[in-house]
Amino acid sequence: MTLNDIDIFKQACLINGEWVTTSDSLEVDNPATGEVIATIPQLDADAVNQAVTAANDAFKLWRKKTPAERGELVRKWYELMVEHTDELATIMTTEQGKPLAEAKGEIAYAASYVKWFAEEAMRINGEILPAGTPDTQIRVSRDPVGVCAAITPWNFPAAMITRKVAPALAAGCTIIVKPASQTPLTALALGELAIQAGIPKGVIQVITGKASVIGDALCENSTVRKLTFTGSTEIGSQLMKKCAPDVKKLSLELGGNAPFIVFEDADIDLAVDGLMKGKFRNAGQTCISPNRVYVQRSVLEEFQTKLVKKVEALKVGNGLDDGVDIGPLIDAAGADKVTEHVDNALSNGATLLTGGKRLPNGDNWYTPTVLTNVPPTAQCTCEETFGPLVPIIPFDTEEEVIEYANDTPFGLAAYFFSDDLHRAQRVVDAIESGMVGVNTGAISAANAPFGGVKASGLGREGAHAGIEEYLEMKYQCYAIK
Ligand code: ADP
Repeated sequence: MTLNDIDIFKQACLINGEWVTTSDSLEVDNPATGEVIATIPQLDADAVNQAVTAANDAFKLWRKKTPAERGELVRKWYELMVEHTDELATIMTTEQGKPLAEAKGEIAYAASYVKWFAEEAMRINGEILPAGTPDTQIRVSRDPVGVCAAITPWNFPAAMITRKVAPALAAGCTIIVKPASQTPLTALALGELAIQAGIPKGVIQVITGKASVIGDALCENSTVRKLTFTGSTEIGSQLMKKCAPDVKKLSLELGGNAPFIVFEDADIDLAVDGLMKGKFRNAGQTCISPNRVYVQRSVLEEFQTKLVKKVEALKVGNGLDDGVDIGPLIDAAGADKVTEHVDNALSNGATLLTGGKRLPNGDNWYTPTVLTNVPPTAQCTCEETFGPLVPIIPFDTEEEVIEYANDTPFGLAAYFFSDDLHRAQRVVDAIESGMVGVNTGAISAANAPFGGVKASGLGREGAHAGIEEYLEMKYQCYAIK
């Protein structure tokens, strides 16, 4: 299947139910081959403001639909996503690079949020609370926030959109999506499926162009009541400032620096499997990817030997080819960062166990790599590598490793492996992070609240908490005669 065989492959923006092109355009390339695969519009601020006006008009009607009506339309969108899994996955692999099987997995995962929130539409409840005096009654209802804007990253071109759009729609909000410029095509295809599902015009819009132009226009438009962003802490923090003047509601899913701890009482095979799943998915370009691997010294040798064997079996290549486990990084800058982190660790005394090379395929490739005896202060333990690097840092005691784990401004995900229940309870309590995987490296699910603490963000996506982000409480005080 090539992109031109796919009828949901769009190279235009979805504004108020219409496909719009502009004379200014941006190119999208395939990170595996470097070839240009599409051109997309480059909207200016006026066009963004027109989309906001359309979203506001659509909001007036959409919020009036019953939760069941909204839920049914969102559910139809889910069904179309599942039906078009192969097309969506092909688009995704071509623009993003991840292996096709992983892309199909992402579509299933992205669709699971749509199904979840289609159902949650029916569970937006109010409350009647005990009042302080006999002649009053306290009621609390929940209203949709209003027009929302979503700015999303390139690492999960479908799931980072559906986690935001599906709860917004279920809650009665309308939403404008600005996908990452590297991966707009999956987002545009999802927009087309939303139209096919019968979701009214202006309820979902997908706009493309220069990130700062679109970001500024969305932040400066006071009709936009909420911004939901997934991306770097640096840009998230800038957007937070830009949303301050009119106090927009915010959800921010930002950078992480996940520790992965293996205690001596762990099931080592399980820990190795957990690390393989968590670390090498999407070539390590995941915000919850284990970034620092702490292994207790008494099991270091066993863990390393088993891990290296599995890492050396990984097949690197074009994600569209059969049997490939790891694709390219998104761009040369991504591979440069891995190179820098590996070089920094080696020059500070780390030992290379496997990998450690760029590949001759092009600038975007880096081999799956394991380093050991990495000093606890190496660059790769302080910053997110976002690539296929496992830096192993040996440790001796539980107290020591908890200190290492929390010694970061970030707090998104953390993982640890131990078969001692008491230790597990102590470590869960001590770790500063929004999510903790205990004896597992796979924690994401639509029915779980995904999100971080500290500089990793604000708010949660998934679970019932995910729809609350798109609702405002209204307290109603009734005097009773
Ligand atoms: P990443 O490292 O994942 O590329 P970014 O934070 O740079 O993280 O990008 C995440 C999203 O934010 C993308 O959609 C990107 O286009 C967008 N973005 C980048 N810079 C800005 C900006 N100045 N204003 C608004 N959005 C931006």
